Amino acid sequence: MEAIPLTFKTGTTSVAKPARERFERGMLQQRLRRLVGKAIADYNMIEDGDRVMVCLSGGKDSYTLLDLLLALQKKAPVSFELIAVHLDQKQPGYPPEILPAYLRDTGLEFHILEQDTYSVVQRVVPEGKTTCGLCSRLRRGILYTFARNHGITKIALGHHRDDIVETLFLNMFFGSRLKAMPPKLLSDDGDNIVIRPLAYCRETDIARYAEARQFPIIPCNLCGSQENLQRKQIKQMLEGWERANPGRVENVFRSLQNVTPSHLADTGLFDFASLGARDEARPSAAQWLVEGRGAE
Ligand code: SF4
Repeated sequence: MEAIPLTFKTGTTSVAKPARERFERGMLQQRLRRLVGKAIADYNMIEDGDRVMVCLSGGKDSYTLLDLLLALQKKAPVSFELIAVHLDQKQPGYPPEILPAYLRDTGLEFHILEQDTYSVVQRVVPEGKTTCGLCSRLRRGILYTFARNHGITKIALGHHRDDIVETLFLNMFFGSRLKAMPPKLLSDDGDNIVIRPLAYCRETDIARYAEARQFPIIPCNLCGSQENLQRKQIKQMLEGWERANPGRVENVFRSLQNVTPSHLADTGLFDFASLGARDEARPSAAQWLVEGRGAE
C-alpha cells in the first residue's frame, strides 16, 4: 500500500498536503462521475449498443467529458462504444501533435479531421465582427456529417451546467427567448442525437479536475477571435450572484427542470384562451383593439 506522508505540528499529527489533495481529488472525481451518471440516466442519453462520438476540442471540458465517460464505460450497466473526434480547423499556431499523442494513450478509436474553416471565417466575416457564430456552424456541420457517415448514434458535447445557465440568460437578455441548452436534443439536421453528459457539473469542478489530471490543453484563442462580450457579461453577472448568494446558479439550473407553463405567458405552450372560456366564438385581437380604440 502506498505510504501516506505525515507532517507534525507542535505535538499534533496532521495529514500532509499531498494526501489531503489526493483525498479531495478522489472526492471530486466521485462527484463528477456521479453527476454524469445521473444525467445520463435522467435523460436516457446512452443505450446498449450506442456508438458515442465524443467531440474533443482540446479544452478542459471535452477532456473531462472523455475521461469521465471512459471511466463510466467500464462499470456501465449497458455496453457502448466511445469514439473521440477532433476537428483541426487550421488555426495559426495549432499544435497538431498534442491530441493524437493523448488519444493514442487512451487506446480509443479516434479521428482527427482536418478542414481549414479558419480561412473561410477570416474571408467571409467582416473585420471587427465576431467570428464564433460562423465558425461554430461550420464545425457543427463537419462533425454532424462525420457522425452520419460513421454509424454514430450519439454525439457527446462537453457543455456543462454553467454553459447551460449562461445560454438561458443570453437568450433572455439578448434574444427575448426563454430557451437554454438542453441535455439531449435532436440536431438541426434532424439526423443526430446530441447529448451533454456534463449538464449537471459545475465549471469550477471541471476546471479543478482538468488541472488535477493535467490534461494537455490546447489554448482556445488561437483563432484570435474577440471574446463574446455578451457571454462575458452574463458570466460576470452569474459569478457576482454566486459570490453573494452561493447556490443561486444551481437553483437557476434546477428551475429549468421544474417548469410550469401555465405560470408563464406563452400562448403556444399553454391554452390560456380556453381557460374558463364560456363562448366558442371569441373576438380576435384586432377586434379588441378596434373596440378598445372606439371606447377611448
Ligand atoms: S473562439 Fe475561435 S475557434 Fe472558437 S468558435 Fe470562436 S472563432 Fe471559432
